[in-house]
This record gives sequence, structure tokens and C-alpha cells, in this order.
Amino acid sequence: MKSFKSIDYTWVGRPQQVGDGFVGQSMIPSQRFSDFSPFLMLDHHGPMQVKPSPVPKGVDEHPHRGIETVTVVFDGALQHRDSAGNKGVIFAGDVQWMSAASGLVHEEKHEINFSRRGGVLDFVQLWVNLPRAHKMEKPRYQELTSAQIPTVELNDQTQLRVISGEIAGVKGPALTYSPVVLVEVIVKGNTEFDLQLPEGFNVAVHVARGSASFNNEKQLPAKNIAKLSQKGEWVTVAAQGDETRLLILGGEPINEPIVSYGPFVMNTQAEIMQTLQDYQSGKMGFLEPVDY
Ligand code: MN
Repeated sequence: MKSFKSIDYTWVGRPQQVGDGFVGQSMIPSQRFSDFSPFLMLDHHGPMQVKPSPVPKGVDEHPHRGIETVTVVFDGALQHRDSAGNKGVIFAGDVQWMSAASGLVHEEKHEINFSRRGGVLDFVQLWVNLPRAHKMEKPRYQELTSAQIPTVELNDQTQLRVISGEIAGVKGPALTYSPVVLVEVIVKGNTEFDLQLPEGFNVAVHVARGSASFNNEKQLPAKNIAKLSQKGEWVTVAAQGDETRLLILGGEPINEPIVSYGPFVMNTQAEIMQTLQDYQSGKMGFLEPVDY
């Protein structure tokens, strides 16, 4: 017999803006973010209409340490560069998995050609905590193009895109420092299906587009997130609408203390003080100025 996860609670995203180019909702409640460990933050920016601009908007140079930022683009395009020497473009369907680890600075902008012509931008950014043992590793940059992300056709209307971990017998390509299942679900029309996720993981399902219910509870429109119980394995999803898009976050909780200060997430106050000192003394590097 299938053991089902229960719905711990659901939460409506809170409006927020990041930088001068990303407008959307904060999806993980900051008051209860420890319920989501190893996930620290989920922002859904868009869908927003970007007006043509010769200078790309977004977020200027800023640091990170102790975490990973995972960017999943649904529509539009972003460009990124960091002080570890990585740069790239994230198009619709692509995923960027950046482990800031010991620290870097980066900027996140509308991709230059997309910025010039304008259009619809829709993406999410997830922050994944790193276990203490990996917080001070060298930064790692995984650029996963749409073609590298395996898909599973669950039924005629439902496609899973497996970014990391394993679901329905398919493994995703992203390397992670603790067990994480990250899956995008794209559904056309009304349909119902069951998904199996690991027992003991914190699991949340973000409704990015359309509408869905879990275990036959109330239908949740876009920009709602459902926190599922660690206990049990299965969840029944019923999608409604022309297109429903879900992001499933599953992760083994990291049972370590968290001390965070903005973009830095460490285990102790002393580590945060050291982090501020390292950043201020330039140990996380710099970006070269660019003329757009
Ligand atoms: Mn950032």
C-alpha cells in the first residue's frame, strides 16, 4: 500500500523586488524557513514584461558564501558572471546551479539581446544550504542546458524534467553536496497523477503556473507553495488549467545551526564575522567593469 505524505501547510508568495529588474514573489516563508531545510529561499520572479533597454537590468555585483543558488528559467533569458571566472547565459529551459561555497561575487542580469528587444521574463531562484563540511570548498558552477535535462512522460499530458536527484526511475544531472531532488513538472490541461518522493526529506511543491491540488485538498493557484510532511512517500497531484507548471523541491534536512547575514549563510556568528572581513578585504574577488 502507498504511504502518502500529508500537507503540513500551504503559503501564498509575498510580493518583492530584487535589484532593478526582478519583480515577483518570495515563496519560502522567512519565519518558517527552517521547515524547508536544506532550502533557504525560493524567489519566483515574473512573469514580467521587460521593456526594451540598451543596458541590461537585474542585480549588480554582490557576494555569497556558504550556499548554492539555483536558477531555473521558464521564459526570457538571463546572463551571469562571477569572480571565480564563470559566465554564461541561462535561456528558457536551462538551469544554472552555482555553488558559492567559500565565496564569490557575481552579477545577475537580463541577457543583453533579450534586454534590447524586451519580452516576458519568468524564472525562479532557489537557495540551497551547504552542509558545514562543504561551506568552504572552492566555488563550483554547473550550467545545465535544456537538452541535458532528462524528461519523463508520466502520462499524455504530464512531463517531468529531472534537474537533480531521482524520480520515476530517472536521475537528474546536477551534482549536489547533500541529497536534493529538484524536478520541474509541466502539465497540459486537467489531469491527475501520483509522484513518489523520499520519506524523511523535506518536500515542497511550488505552483509556478496554472493551478494544482495535492492529495485532493483545495486547489492552489499559481504563486502558492505546499509544504509536505517528511513522513510518507507519495503525493497525488491534480492539475487544472491550460498549462500548469510545478517545481518540486525535496531535500534531506541539514541538522546544523544556521547563522545568516544577507547573502552569507554559515553555522556560527564568528564565521559570519570572518565572512564579512573576508568580503571587505577583497578575498571573494571582483568583477571587471563592463560597458554595455
Ligand atoms: Mn546572487
